[in-house]
Amino acid sequence: MRRFQHYIDGAFEDGPAGFESLDPASGEAWAIMPEAREAEVDRAVMAAHRAFRAPDWAGLTASARAKLLHRLADLVERDASELAALETRDTGKIIRETRAQIAYVAEYYRYYAGLADKIEGAHLPIDKPDMEVWLRREPVGVVAAIVPWNSQLFLSAVKLGPALAAGCTVVLKASEEGPAPLLHFARLVHEAGFPAGVVNVLTGFGARCGAVLTSHPKVAHVAFTGGPDTARAVVRNSAENLARTSLELGGKSPFIVFADADLDSAANAQVSAIFAAAGQSCVAGSRLLVERPVKEAFLERLVAKARAVRIGAPDDPETEMGPLCTVRQRDRIEEVIAASTARGARLVTGGDRVGEAGFYTTPAILDCSEVPDAPCVTNELFGPVLSVLAFDDEAEALRLANGTDYGLAAGLFTTNLTRAHRMTRGLEAGVVWINTYRAVSPIAPFGGHGLSGHGREGGLAAALDYTTIKTVWLRTSDDPIPDPFVMR
Ligand code: NAD
Repeated sequence: MRRFQHYIDGAFEDGPAGFESLDPASGEAWAIMPEAREAEVDRAVMAAHRAFRAPDWAGLTASARAKLLHRLADLVERDASELAALETRDTGKIIRETRAQIAYVAEYYRYYAGLADKIEGAHLPIDKPDMEVWLRREPVGVVAAIVPWNSQLFLSAVKLGPALAAGCTVVLKASEEGPAPLLHFARLVHEAGFPAGVVNVLTGFGARCGAVLTSHPKVAHVAFTGGPDTARAVVRNSAENLARTSLELGGKSPFIVFADADLDSAANAQVSAIFAAAGQSCVAGSRLLVERPVKEAFLERLVAKARAVRIGAPDDPETEMGPLCTVRQRDRIEEVIAASTARGARLVTGGDRVGEAGFYTTPAILDCSEVPDAPCVTNELFGPVLSVLAFDDEAEALRLANGTDYGLAAGLFTTNLTRAHRMTRGLEAGVVWINTYRAVSPIAPFGGHGLSGHGREGGLAAALDYTTIKTVWLRTSDDPIPDPFVMR
């Protein structure tokens, strides 16, 4: 069985204990992962804290940090196929997608390398004649970056890129489900030449690792991606260290199709929105809202496409949908489908197990027109399950779209330009895709509100999130300070 190691203070090490990682395609253990507990987390944070102040990092110019990030990007690109194979093996995400996604991850590091020397301070036109006042943008300190199991290289790049560009140091906690790609990524950080302690990579479980990391007194910012319940624990932990938090959480994103839309194009996008990555995507378009006159025609197209999805081994480049990452995921999806049909939702297709081994399920579509509050409509399932509702006009489409506590993404399919603008204004979501879906770029901010969290990843603002402002006052007069009891 393959063994992976932690990366703490510039050295690779085994944890005090190891745990087995399962291959979701077979359900069998294939690797031993190191488990970080209180002592390892503390050592990693203290190493990051020392590195934050050490001259070989703190003394680097922004351009020098950019060079390191460029080198890291090149190494990610060089090892993209190995990283993709590891992610596919450990999480079940299909190789077609991991290859494409990881090749693109390098672009995130390049984008933030380019931004490193553009994080500028400011000079203030202060209201006192004998003062110069300027603002320095300084790195906030040690960042705890915590990611879930899906798309770990991508979800860590949107944290490490801006944090390192700003001059922070990082302790990155890989998910305990499928940590292999990030533990390999640590080797690339090492090879790129980052000073010891600047980036530390470990994995472990919620209580003994995640909670210890997010409440550690030397952590200044917690960048978290995961579910809302864990996010609540993270925010509570931050009451200990008063760290800033940025939270990228789940969603129950609406995918809205008007009768005037190009239905073939919309159907392809809907398949991508909910069945790509077996629906294990925070932006999954899991609620289809379709204008009533085209509901049956659109459903017919979708059902045909859902039934034609090629399910198979995730490492086969022909496969379109692989297994779910964990058996827990599959069981939960089955439970929610059963509870929804018991409430009157109509299972149009899917929801069946495939084969004896592995955590496979077929793409499911449930018509919930008669039960808009069925459990499959209201709960994030993180799986290939689409709930369908019909609407009669824009107002109803908006009411249904916004009828959730989440607010991450929304898809809108229409050929009517003015309607696209009206709907965009009304949609409560951090990202709106019009006549497309799931498009991302390092240049474009990403994030949500409500139960989907707060803060944005991607774009310039994300780099500024990892900085703090130092206000500097310089008195330009050579005269002695006149009155010590009246300072200005
Ligand atoms: P999760 O919330 O269970 O776990 C996320 C991470 O938090 C893991 O590394 C876990 O070990 C850690 N953790 C657990 N308990 C902790 C604690 N008490 N303190 C600190 N850390 C702790 O999420 P998951 O099941 O792995 O992933 C699925 C969730 O992630 C879904 O809700 C999904 O929508 C969300 N997600 C969001 C985005 C986004 O960008 N918005 C992207 C991908 C996934």
